[in-house]
Formats: sequence, structure tokens, C-alpha cells
Amino acid sequence: VEVWNGALHVHTTYSDGSGDVATVVAAAKSARLRFVLLTDHDTLAPRQDVGDGWHDGVLVGFGVEVSPPENHFLAFGVSEVPDRRQPPEAYVAATNAQGGFGFAAHPHDRGSPLLRLPPYRWTASYDGVTGIELFNYMSAFVAEAQRLPGALAALAWPTRRIAGPDPETLALWDRLLALRPTPMVMGIDAHAYRLGPLTVFPYERLFAALQMFLYVPRPPAFDASDLALVYDALRTGRGFGARTDLGLPEGFHFEVDGALPGDEIRWTPGLTAHLLTPPGGEGRLLQSGRVLARGRKDLAARLEGPGPVRAEVWRGRQGWVFANPVYVTPPT
Ligand SMILES: [Zn+2]
Ligand SMILES: [Zn+2]
Repeated sequence: VEVWNGALHVHTTYSDGSGDVATVVAAAKSARLRFVLLTDHDTLAPRQDVGDGWHDGVLVGFGVEVSPPENHFLAFGVSEVPDRRQPPEAYVAATNAQGGFGFAAHPHDRGSPLLRLPPYRWTASYDGVTGIELFNYMSAFVAEAQRLPGALAALAWPTRRIAGPDPETLALWDRLLALRPTPMVMGIDAHAYRLGPLTVFPYERLFAALQMFLYVPRPPAFDASDLALVYDALRTGRGFGARTDLGLPEGFHFEVDGALPGDEIRWTPGLTAHLLTPPGGEGRLLQSGRVLARGRKDLAARLEGPGPVRAEVWRGRQGWVFANPVYVTPPT
């Protein structure tokens, strides 16, 4: 198994981002990302113009953010833009019908009167939705930017002031996990807004601030097959996300007796979850939404039955590392 790091949920000049695709790729390269997934609002034009695949040493995939006034949806693996004028159930189904998959974006976005942003929440059903965006860097910033002092503090000290994930989103995730496997992604929602001479949250800074780490079965072949590995890992939740602005998650490892995030393992007596907690963090092991163990050291928890098991690492109010679940299934 290899670990590929990258970022997703990026806007370019094809919608409301300030940088073109080449600028985004150059920033991804200097942040040492292996992959970057771009999701402009309601267009796949960059996919037609530039094309999926390796560009300047970075694996680039073009999805789309279906963007009606609420219920934004990150669709990947599609070649036709799902129509945002339909009800969410219909654009989710249209994504799946194309063999694609997708994530409910920033489901508890709060908006900000100061920034004149309405709340872009997910209000529709999660039926057919592959997974959720557990953390969105820009939404987490906007949540702190309700008034000017909070906005300025979050801009100046994001590692101290940008908190999250939202407790509501974590609770939602556990509710969905009780029903079915539900992978999460952590997205940067990069726009690199220009404010006069300033660029607010430039691409390179966000690429260094939040990354997904995906488990893939082989080294890159440097052809079109590599993007399929990234998409498979996202679709099945093989991986974890980390606020890399708080520090690289050195040494982080979560497994249930050899089963990694996204894997299934059958319950047997004595089955044990293990979390290697990176230094400086507080680790938590959870099963079916219940905390099994927590602490500032490596953790082990013997499981008492089936149910999804997941791991978190926090630094105060800042969620640092979130792993997708290992699915412990009932014995036959
Ligand atoms: Zn959005
Ligand atoms: Zn977006």
C-alpha cells in the first residue's frame, strides 16, 4: 500500500477562482502534492480544454461542484455536468448514472453577513450521495468571520482561530454511518480571492494547510490509470484527511487488526482498534459515534461488537486528523 497526498475542491478562472489551471498546478507542485482535484461551479470545460491526467508532475482530475443556491455537490468521474436546476435527488442520481460519485459539500455552512455570504447548507436527502465533505477550510473560516475582529483574527492566525469540523457535521456523519458506509473528504474550497493587491488564502497556502492522504495499491504508472486509483480511494474512503497547517501528521496510523480505513473486517472476539497518535495531538477512537478511548498517546481499544470504527486527532478546538472508518461487520 502507498499513501498519496493531495487536495480537492479547488476553483479556477473557469468559475470564481482567481487562478487559471496552470497556476493551480504550479501551486500544487510547489506544495508537493501528488494529486489535485478541481471542481469549478457547474462546468467541466477545463476537463475538455486541459484534460485529466499528469500535468507537470501533478496528477490532475476535473470534477464539478454542482452549485444551486444551496445543496452544493462535488461530483467526480462524470463527463456531463449534472444540471443544477434539477432537485438535488436528480443531480445526485445523474452523477451516479454516469458511473460517477459525489459528496455533499460543506453541509453546515453558516454564511457570514460581514462577507455577504448566505449559508450554503445541504438540506436535501443523503440517499444516493456517496459521502460528505466533513470539513471545508473556507466554510470553517467563514464560521469565524461573522464580525470583522473574528475575520481578521482568523486570517492572521488560522491555525489558532479556524476550528472544526463543525460538531453538527460530525454528528451527521455518525448518523449516516449507522445506516451505511459513508466516506468523508476534507476540502479546501480554494478560490484565492483577490482583494485589491491582496490574495486571500492563495492556492499554495491552502494546499499546504489541508490534505487528503489516500491508500492506493501501487506506485504511480504516470498514465490515466492513476486517477482511477485516486477516485477508487475516495469513493471507498481509503484514507484520512489532515489539517497540515497544524503540522504534518507524522506517525499517524489507524487500523483494526490490519484493516485500514475503508476496509471491512468481520467481528471476532478480541478484535482491537489501534491509533498511533502524532505528537502534540489528542487521539480518540470511536465506534458507532461512541468514544472508546482517548488520550495523548497511542491508543488501543478492544471492540465489543460490530459497527464502524474511526479515529480522530485534535489540537484543542482544531480537528487535526480524521480517518475514514474501518467497517466491522457482524459475524455470519
Ligand atoms: Zn460550495
Ligand atoms: Zn466550492
